[in-house]
Amino acid sequence: MVLCCGGKRVWVMLATMALVCVSTIVGLWVYQLTSFPPPTNKWDHYRLPDTLVPERYDVALWPRLDPDADGLYIFTGHSTVRFRCLRDTNLILLHCKQLKLSTMDSDGHLVKLTALRGTPPAIRKTWLHEPTQYLVVQLNGVVKAGQDYDLHTEFSGELSDDLEGLYRSEYTEDGVTKVVATSQMHPTHARKTFPCFDEPAMKAVFHITVLHKPGTLALSNGMEIAIEDTTVEGQAVTKTTFEPTKKMSTYLLALVVSDFDHLASLAGNTSIRIWARKNAIIQGHGSYALNVTVPVLKFFEDYYNISYPLSKSDQIALPDFYFGAMENWGLVTYREANLLYDPDVSSNRNKETTATIIAHELAHMWFGNLVTLKWWNEVWLNEGFASYVSYLGANRAEPTWNVKDLIVLDDVHRVFAVDALASSHPLSSKEEEIQRPEQISELFDAISYSKRGPQSCGCCLTSSLSLCSSRVSKHI
Ligand SMILES: [Zn+2]
Repeated sequence: MVLCCGGKRVWVMLATMALVCVSTIVGLWVYQLTSFPPPTNKWDHYRLPDTLVPERYDVALWPRLDPDADGLYIFTGHSTVRFRCLRDTNLILLHCKQLKLSTMDSDGHLVKLTALRGTPPAIRKTWLHEPTQYLVVQLNGVVKAGQDYDLHTEFSGELSDDLEGLYRSEYTEDGVTKVVATSQMHPTHARKTFPCFDEPAMKAVFHITVLHKPGTLALSNGMEIAIEDTTVEGQAVTKTTFEPTKKMSTYLLALVVSDFDHLASLAGNTSIRIWARKNAIIQGHGSYALNVTVPVLKFFEDYYNISYPLSKSDQIALPDFYFGAMENWGLVTYREANLLYDPDVSSNRNKETTATIIAHELAHMWFGNLVTLKWWNEVWLNEGFASYVSYLGANRAEPTWNVKDLIVLDDVHRVFAVDALASSHPLSSKEEEIQRPEQISELFDAISYSKRGPQSCGCCLTSSLSLCSSRVSKHI
């Protein structure tokens, strides 16, 4: 009996707790609906307003390859972005993440604004808005439509080993630990290196200067045009200046400081260089990549009927790299295993991977870099096409392999397995559905790379691309 009466009390208690839980959940739900109205401030939106467009950046960066007194690896830099105002506005938004900005005047503002003609409006307030990763500049007056302005910032950041933005990679060679400063801006990490309009359609020309430790070399998208030894803040440094880039997206910017060595060749007037650790170059592990690059570049020049757009093509093998490779325009970065090939150790599969990945990245030098998506919701256009033509490019370099047959094995069946899951998603999303950086990153999956309609039918793909021409922006 006691047990029975005690059981009734338990059921009453459980029912009461269930009612409390349900009412709490409903209450929180109603509170959330009524207490968080859609954002009204422009800095609460993840997309930049359409009032300003960048024209050029002058960026100087100084990554330190030795730790400071606190044991931290850092970089310092300054940047001037010239932008054109399309519509009068009293608000300037730039992306900025995890940077420490210096104050630029006695009022403690984080930027200096100058007008190319006349006087710029006074700055009212500046701050870093972390949720949407913005540097916010409120003005007392307005910047005027049709006019150009320069916005200058000075900043420092950590050269951390997180594989994002300008980051640190380490390796051991001949018993010595060596540090490399390298970069991964794609898709939204340029903002972690310098304040910028970090959206793919916001293309501009980049003038890059790098200060680096004497004895190291610096590489970027453009060819090195001046290298001089100098002294800055009492320290001996080497200053490398690069030729200006083509008009391009922030996510394609690249920068590497290392003591690597290279192999070189020429494809027409284009300088071809394969960079890697000194020992890897001495042992000839970059030779296969060099041999493949020349015919693949020639193939894509014929295929697109457009000359290679740049004066040089650098490809570099990095000890620490998040993706398999990244198509930075003129300085393609790779995981070591994907660029280097050792005939004594590597398998045939390694060789096939090297050939197709090089072809994939070089295909982007035109499709993706010269012609670019307006927004990340159509990333399948970029990656699906590059994946498809990578087999065509590799086939030119290795015509006896029948490499095109591997499309069925490596792409079609791979994506069938993923597409059969409930977690699959449409190829193309609505632009407004892809907003936050993590939503953008999620799109780089097997669906975007390998599911492209009738996969092995290039003519169908080409016609679907021509139908999609409104979704890309072209700047030459
Ligand atoms: Zn790609």
